[in-house]
Amino acid sequence: MSTLQAPHLVIGSGPAGLAAVQTLLKADAEVLWLDNQVQPGGQIWRGGPAAQDAHARRVAADLPQLLTHPRLRFLPGHMAVGTTADGEILAQDLAGGRLRQLRGDKTLLALGARELHVPVPGWDLPGVTGAGGLQALVKGGWPVQGQRVMLAGSGPLLLATAKTLQAAGAELGGIVELRPWQDLTLFASRLNLAQWQQAIALRWQLRRVPYRIGVQVLRVLGRSRVEGVRLSDGLREWDEPCEALGLGFGLIPNSELAAMLSCATGDDGRILVDNTLHSSQPGIYAAGECTGIGGMRKAWIEGQLAARSMLGLEIPGTLARAHRQALAFSHRLAQHFGPTPAQWARCTPEVRVCRCEGVRLRELQGHPSWREAKLQTRCGMGACQGRICGPISQRLLGWPEAHPQRGVRFPLHPLPIGSLLDER
Ligand SMILES: Cc1cc2nc3c(=O)[nH]c(=O)nc-3n(C[C@H](O)[C@H](O)[C@H](O)COP(=O)(O)OP(=O)(O)OC[C@H]3O[C@@H](n4cnc5c(N)ncnc54)[C@H](O)[C@@H]3O)c2cc1C
Repeated sequence: MSTLQAPHLVIGSGPAGLAAVQTLLKADAEVLWLDNQVQPGGQIWRGGPAAQDAHARRVAADLPQLLTHPRLRFLPGHMAVGTTADGEILAQDLAGGRLRQLRGDKTLLALGARELHVPVPGWDLPGVTGAGGLQALVKGGWPVQGQRVMLAGSGPLLLATAKTLQAAGAELGGIVELRPWQDLTLFASRLNLAQWQQAIALRWQLRRVPYRIGVQVLRVLGRSRVEGVRLSDGLREWDEPCEALGLGFGLIPNSELAAMLSCATGDDGRILVDNTLHSSQPGIYAAGECTGIGGMRKAWIEGQLAARSMLGLEIPGTLARAHRQALAFSHRLAQHFGPTPAQWARCTPEVRVCRCEGVRLRELQGHPSWREAKLQTRCGMGACQGRICGPISQRLLGWPEAHPQRGVRFPLHPLPIGSLLDER
């Protein structure tokens, strides 16, 4: 197995990883950087920082120089799938299937987040995806031109997705926010001027799209694929027709790799860090969504901050202040958005919890533990390896160990058997 080594290893090339690498290279540090995507940018700038706003344009303009920096070794298309007993990272080259051993004196985990799903009857029909997942598909070229699309769930990602879909020519039937007006008003009342301007600009762009607040998704309608969605505002129920439906109830941090490295994680899955973004393990730092959901700005600030900590540099007061504000924003996001107990209660025994293996909630009920349920039903043993159904089972069945961070083991992502055979 080939081994690559550098003083600074950065995993993840979203805004957090990008900001960190920029800061490290400015200080002339040597960096080894990897991401499973073929281009840097992470979720928000999937496919490369687009010309979305002034900041993204600056990042895009600086990228060619960054990627050819003589002190940088960038490994696109490399997935971190495990660790060695000595704390090195095992990464798979997704093109060649080879495993590589990566060693950094200091390591930054900038792993981002994934969507939190709340199953409702019919959510496993073709044409239903996560809201962010639908956005990612469209950014990758999935055609939605002229299709009637509904977005439902909770959180600002619904609006960001709507913007992407609108630009791709979809006919947006509506955006449905679960949380009531009070939550949105309280959230909005604490936004700063720049955030207000951003929110107003986005709402203006989406002015022709109905935005319904305090509305719950009851079920997805359709026989062989999605044909509509049944909604309720507590007073009445109605159906909205659609050809595609994006459901999104928020995000959960990607922290399985951190758990494998024995870094402490919180109940909500985030990697626990101190105010220098150092984790509970020596030499391991974390930044961005994986330390708590807070959006692009938090990720960018934390990338800079973590890099300065890795370099042993002082943290400027302005950066520390901006970080405190970003953390407060992250706290408010968690408070005012996300699934409610009433939404979770829509998960009837017939609802499919594990879409990979087709396992329904009633098949899981009655098993004493997640492990037993997995052995008997194959729940969590499909392609997503429990990343989707684990958090759902944890919430619905009260199995703490169903969370993907508990009992993580190699490989974190499915591997071609050949990549292991190579190592004989
Ligand atoms: C599907 C989705 C869509 C989103 N769209 C938007 C949007 O339009 N607007 C917005 O403001 N916010 C969006 N967000 C929120 C987004 O997470 C943040 O705004 C921002 O991208 C966070 O930056 P980050 O660097 O923390 O994480 P990310 O941008 O998620 O970057 C993390 C990177 O780490 C890589 N990675 C993770 N695990 C591994 C591994 N094991 N090995 C190698 N690489 C790995 C990922 O591929 C990714 O490139 C989206 C989130 C999701 C999940």
